[in-house]
Amino acid sequence: MAHRKPRLAVWKFASCDGCQLSLLDCEDELLAIAGALEISYFPEATRGEARGVYDLSLVEGSVTTPHDAERIQDIRRRSKKLVTIGACATAGGIQALRNFADVRDYAAIVYAHPEYIQTLATSTAISQHVPVDFELRGCPINKGQLVDVISAFLTGRRPNTPAESVCVQCKLKGNVCVMVARAIPCLGPVTHAGCGALCPSYDRGCYGCFGPKETPNAPSLSGWFKRLGVDEKGLQRIYRTFNADAEPFRQESERHDAQDHQG
Ligand code: SF4
Ligand code: SF4
Repeated sequence: MAHRKPRLAVWKFASCDGCQLSLLDCEDELLAIAGALEISYFPEATRGEARGVYDLSLVEGSVTTPHDAERIQDIRRRSKKLVTIGACATAGGIQALRNFADVRDYAAIVYAHPEYIQTLATSTAISQHVPVDFELRGCPINKGQLVDVISAFLTGRRPNTPAESVCVQCKLKGNVCVMVARAIPCLGPVTHAGCGALCPSYDRGCYGCFGPKETPNAPSLSGWFKRLGVDEKGLQRIYRTFNADAEPFRQESERHDAQDHQG
């Protein structure tokens, strides 16, 4: 009997599709991936759908509607391994800014007839709904890390993605620290590595698109930002971007929310 190829499914929830495009952008590796796997469901790449159980599901996007909340349960039941990809899927994405406001206010601005919109009050990470086998961070994800994660799940090993901060990647590249040398606020010390320290390599501060690293000390970093002249409102905004609902960034932004509460 012929050896069955592992079945891959790629799912989309609330997102911009950028992380799925990272997979399609793996020009050098895509043929090898397609050869090693049976791509059973991937609407961004093919109209075909093979139903059944999937060996590996990659999930992009956050849960923002009642339908999403039901669909992810079904996907989990039919996936042997489930990996979430990107800031939307791992932290609710930029759309989680609704979690700090009343979503009806946003709906009224965006839609002519908001009464027809069925939406949840929050945008949440997939792991808040179902068990997740691995979370790959980034907005968008790094395609090298994605290939490593797929190969890890094919061969039964743990993914080899670094847990350190962007700062470590700056040191490895020999970058001059933008905070120390240029007084530019930079989230690199608390942000997950994965981008190769892209922004600091161009003399810009990191704005945290790879989300919080393990054990980040955001309150300490905020103290340094204050010394550079960032005010409370500015501190709140720094942590409220693509990973606003990731717990360490959420907590730190809420610590600087006092002025809002005082009106
Ligand atoms: S994480 Fe970023 S790139 Fe990926 S789907 Fe969400 S918004 Fe798009
Ligand atoms: S914002 Fe930070 S994590 Fe994102 S690409 Fe720039 S340096 Fe990397």
